[in-house]
Amino acid sequence: MPSWRPGACHSLPVTPERKARHKEKTMLGSMMQMPLLISSLLMHAERHHPEQEIVSRRVEGDLHRTTYRELAGRARRMANALTAHGLKMSDRIGTLAWNGYRHLELYYAVSGSGAVLHTINPRLHPDQIVYLADHAENTILFFDLTFLPIVEAIAPRVKTIKAFVAMTDAAHMPAGSAIPNLLCYEDLIAEGAPEFDWPQFDENTASSLCYTSGTTGNPKGALYSHRSTLLHTLSAALPDALNCSAGDCILPVVPMFHVNAWGIPYVACMVGAKLVFPGAGLDGKSLHDLFEAEGVTMAAGVPTVWQGLLAHMQANNLGFSTMRRTVIGGSACPPAMIEAFEKTYKVHVVHAWGMTELSPLGTICSFKFKHKELSVDQQLALQARQGRVLFGIDMKIVAPDGGEVAWDGLQTGDLQVRGHWVIDGYFKGEGNNPLVRGWFPTGDVAKIDADGYMQITDRSKDVIKSGGEWIGSIDLENIAMAHPAVAMAACIAARHPKWDERPLLVVMKKPGMDVTRDELIKFYEGRVARWWTPDDVVFVDSIPLGATGKMQKNKLREQFRDYKLPTA
Ligand code: ADP
Repeated sequence: MPSWRPGACHSLPVTPERKARHKEKTMLGSMMQMPLLISSLLMHAERHHPEQEIVSRRVEGDLHRTTYRELAGRARRMANALTAHGLKMSDRIGTLAWNGYRHLELYYAVSGSGAVLHTINPRLHPDQIVYLADHAENTILFFDLTFLPIVEAIAPRVKTIKAFVAMTDAAHMPAGSAIPNLLCYEDLIAEGAPEFDWPQFDENTASSLCYTSGTTGNPKGALYSHRSTLLHTLSAALPDALNCSAGDCILPVVPMFHVNAWGIPYVACMVGAKLVFPGAGLDGKSLHDLFEAEGVTMAAGVPTVWQGLLAHMQANNLGFSTMRRTVIGGSACPPAMIEAFEKTYKVHVVHAWGMTELSPLGTICSFKFKHKELSVDQQLALQARQGRVLFGIDMKIVAPDGGEVAWDGLQTGDLQVRGHWVIDGYFKGEGNNPLVRGWFPTGDVAKIDADGYMQITDRSKDVIKSGGEWIGSIDLENIAMAHPAVAMAACIAARHPKWDERPLLVVMKKPGMDVTRDELIKFYEGRVARWWTPDDVVFVDSIPLGATGKMQKNKLREQFRDYKLPTA
């Protein structure tokens, strides 16, 4: 048993009575009290990194360059303009936008003013976007021109939006649009006065709102606060986390509409890093060109995006000149991808786990001192894990009986977390109280080793239960993805008369490559316990991806609901 003991860490709830008693009996420190506000990040960047560049590939087609000084000035103008248009504390302001400098301005103008930035995923169905805008009671909706057709479709249906703002200049405004109260972003900036004192308020005030993807039922909102965001930012920048500094040039491929682009818009201001925004150009060539032209040192994104990049680089025999590391998360990063980045391209992979309910970072895989001595292959094996918690988060693994599971790297159970940036309930009380004795159940199945490295083996709804035993689908997918002919693989449960469920591997091949069912089944020999080997393989032209680039296994389960296994 490791030194870790179940239930070793307890904290008492801070009740008003305890606070009052503490004040009576205890000497308080004589330190300044400054609320942890998002505007402080922008003020810091403006004052200490005014010349640092922000480069954006724009919807208009060009590459736009600005600085933190201009970002702060334009955010103040926008805050003034919004106030003149009636913006109040806690109003929810929606965005449908790519990663770009205007979106960043809104991150600060809206939250800095005390209102709530509600970033909406434009890849969702218009019905879902209407649902989200209504549920959040958005009053203004900002949108990139790419999404004009979506806005035209939803404008007559949304209930609370009073104004729509096209994020462009007067010359590019859509002509003859039927959208009511359509405003121009650059006109708003021009009409906003340059002076604006960022208001000071309670750091627990809501700052931004993100909804879960809602693969089951309606999406639920996670409402972040200034305090939770600032603490997340401080911890996320640390060397054992994203390891960001003023010497970095960061390109977040992860969208600003997906859980605050993993906190990078805040971290970059805090450390004064150069920022490069890819806009809508997320294909391998556009990304690689931008990495090279701007001297990108660090990027972040989901595995599916990196697949496109790696395929482009392999096909064109390209390398990286400045890229040093890439953060990969959102779904499990296949070990074959980690190896390609590390060995072929000399780019260090930082595997991260998080979720909307954590805004989003929970764990990051970085080496402890003793692991620096490991061989490259041993390190690669460690990097396939999702890593250790950031300071500010705690985690545990829980068995079905509610008891904690030991950190032995073998036993799996439900992953629960708590911490400064974990929700304690969903927006508007949806889903009632999600917590279990003060811990948030993540819905992930995981194990933790004695060094505190957590590894996700599955989502609880994706687990395959064969004869009462769990088979982790992620392991099986990772093995298939290591086969040179496999582009993407999903492992789902297929019905079996004897074992209830058995693994069925759904495979999309790489273009021009071939592999047979039997070859793939044989590929598992020696790589996994025999009873874990998939019973069958089906080849498909494409695997459905959700709005955040993750495989939609629920759709595959539906598609193959009546699949008859050869072993059945
Ligand atoms: P959704 O996938 O529903 O849109 P999130 O974006 O919040 O919601 O995703 C959170 C989930 O994504 C986690 O609970 C986990 O299942 C999965 N996930 C995130 N990062 C990783 C990772 N590195 N490895 C495996 N799964 C991950």
